[in-house]
Amino acid sequence: MEPNSKQIYSSADFVKKQLAESEHRFHALYENAAEGIYFTDPAEKKIIHANPAFARMMGYSLEELRGLSVYDFVSDAKENIDQRMHMLHVTQQATIAERKYRARDGRVLDVEVSASVIPLEGREVLVTIVHNVTERKEAEIELKSSERRFRTLFANVPLPAWVFDLETSKFLEVNDAALVLYGYTKEEFFSMRVSDLRVKEDVSQLRAALEIIQTRQFDSTEAQHRKKDGSIIDVFISWHEVSYGGKPSVLVVAQDITEAKQSKEELERAKHLAELASNAKTDFLTNMSHEIRTPMNGILGTIGLLLQTSLTEEQREYIETIRVSGDALLNILNDILDFSKIETGKAVIEEHACRLCAVIEETLELFAMQAEEKGVDLNYWIEPEVPALLLTDVVRVRQIFSNLVSNAIKFTGEGEINITVARKSETDEHIELLVSVHDTGIGIPKERINRLFKPFSQVDTSTTRKFGGTGLGLAISARSIELLGGKIWVESSIGLGSTFYFTIKAKKDTKENNHAAVEPLVQGKKYALVVDDHAEGREKLSKLIMQWGFEVDTADSIDAAMQYMAASHQYEIFVIDHGIDADSGLRLIVQIRTNPQYHVTPIIAIVSRSKHIDLPATKAAFLTLVTKPIHHQHLYDVIAQALHRQQQPAKEQASHSPSSRIQPSVLPAMKVLAVEDNLINQKLIVRILKISGIEADVADNGYAAVELEIQNHYDVIFMDVQMPEMDGYEATKRIREKIPRSQQPVIIAMTA
Ligand code: ADP
Repeated sequence: MEPNSKQIYSSADFVKKQLAESEHRFHALYENAAEGIYFTDPAEKKIIHANPAFARMMGYSLEELRGLSVYDFVSDAKENIDQRMHMLHVTQQATIAERKYRARDGRVLDVEVSASVIPLEGREVLVTIVHNVTERKEAEIELKSSERRFRTLFANVPLPAWVFDLETSKFLEVNDAALVLYGYTKEEFFSMRVSDLRVKEDVSQLRAALEIIQTRQFDSTEAQHRKKDGSIIDVFISWHEVSYGGKPSVLVVAQDITEAKQSKEELERAKHLAELASNAKTDFLTNMSHEIRTPMNGILGTIGLLLQTSLTEEQREYIETIRVSGDALLNILNDILDFSKIETGKAVIEEHACRLCAVIEETLELFAMQAEEKGVDLNYWIEPEVPALLLTDVVRVRQIFSNLVSNAIKFTGEGEINITVARKSETDEHIELLVSVHDTGIGIPKERINRLFKPFSQVDTSTTRKFGGTGLGLAISARSIELLGGKIWVESSIGLGSTFYFTIKAKKDTKENNHAAVEPLVQGKKYALVVDDHAEGREKLSKLIMQWGFEVDTADSIDAAMQYMAASHQYEIFVIDHGIDADSGLRLIVQIRTNPQYHVTPIIAIVSRSKHIDLPATKAAFLTLVTKPIHHQHLYDVIAQALHRQQQPAKEQASHSPSSRIQPSVLPAMKVLAVEDNLINQKLIVRILKISGIEADVADNGYAAVELEIQNHYDVIFMDVQMPEMDGYEATKRIREKIPRSQQPVIIAMTA
């Protein structure tokens, strides 16, 4: 019996062990499952036990869940819940259903539940397994609405669009706009492949495009498509890789650009033709004006010679008229040549050391006589922070100033013209200047202002107009300014005057100390009285004198000056620009001198160059005359000298600032060759050299020049640049090659 009983014992043991293991497994599953699981008492409808996953899902703690009524979290009517639980109890069949559960915080969760009845500890309980599908549901809803949006958009965009299968290239979807454009029905489209839209030559391109699509999600291109009626259109297409019904597909949006393309091509053709015509015109102008300048040079040169011969007054007058007209004609030719050079892009920007104040002074000097005749005062002011020396195209800068000042004088009856230069911006290497040229002239009507910088535009275009000109000056200036990295604009009011502004960029000369401080002329508080009836001139003059260390009082009339003298400071110096040649200016000088305080105080009188000044010697002592326009450095030197002289009194006479008249001089003896193909200009240069005491040889082309140089070894060669057979450049090159270094001539190029 024993072995048997032992056997029975061990089989019971085995069952027990098995049971324990199974329970253990269930427990592990129950505790760690991702799904929520809970047990309910079917009679009381309360939770007996729930697993941690369910607690997490619902936001309750395990303790809170125990005893919780199903009515509290199943989001349904009580009768429905009761009925369902009853049915389950009766049928004992497991059910799977979608339900809504309310979490502890009130959120409603979408859940899939499967419930069944199981025996537990001697009674029947309900076990429910809960799978939270809230997120999946939300995603499904979002997908549906996005799909709806896509459909609406796809159907309603005015651009043709379609979807095709990336693998088979078959159309999967087309919108109405595509049907309208291509002329196929939807059914026809669905029986076609995308390649059927392309023109034959384009199919290989399509193949390449399809390969690109596989690696890139988006692309766009231009292509040619064929419509159902056989006509060919240009389209711009963009495609996106999409998944359509689970298949890799491509969404294409097309735009018919046939017309736009045609008109663009036509426009480009027309533009090209217009440019050709315009270049031909400017080329012609360039050549013409160059050709005309050569004889003009002959005419003007010969007139110059003629004027040096003995002539009657009448002859001289006629020739003077020819000279003035010839000069004017040459100016116009220069304008045209310059303009056409800029227009055809032949203008190059050079870089030289440029002393801005010299450029401005030279420009003002050029127009000084004209300004004086009209009674127009010329002034300039350069802000101290502007470097004295710049690297820029000095020829262009001079031309811009000269154009603007020439206009300002032309259109100003009386008053002032003021140039100011300020710094606009600066880097380590560059400076941007802001220049203004202000006049008190006739002004420019608002509606004409924006045309002003276009070529051949003048405000007054009537044939009876008062002012001459080609209407090219501002156009040239504007182009030059553009080349120098700046722009030009104007502000103007009719009757009050105009201010032309421009900016240019220039390099700073880093080699030179550019901001050398000005040495003050006086120490301590010393006063100067500046008398000037022109407001801006007065301001500029006093700024200048202040810069040199003086305290400055300014008076705009003789009377104001007298009042200052009577009541104000002790003056070290008087600077008077008040029509000194007119009576009032003289009156002021006499008044100053009769004041015992000011017997020997220096007076600087700024005067016109053309007027003669007659002063008794007693009045002229310690009086220095400075001619207009004022050169700042010169005025500084004059004041310095005057102060110095006053400290070492001696008998002084009125001294005039140095005259700029050039003395005709005779050149030292030298051997000169003139190379020039134009007969008149040949004669001209020979004559001019003869007046200077030189007998020159003549060659009429480059070959002859080289030959003569080899024979004669000249000191100087005047070389025309443009010549038939061999031009001046080539001739110069050969001379430089052939002649030994020590015997090389100086070669001076001549060109019209
Ligand atoms: P022009 O050779 O005719 O002077 P510009 O191009 O230099 O050619 O000037 C064009 C026109 O602009 C002038 O004819 C004139 O009508 C107007 N203009 C230019 N500068 C001034 C100014 N400072 N004051 C008034 N009008 C001016």
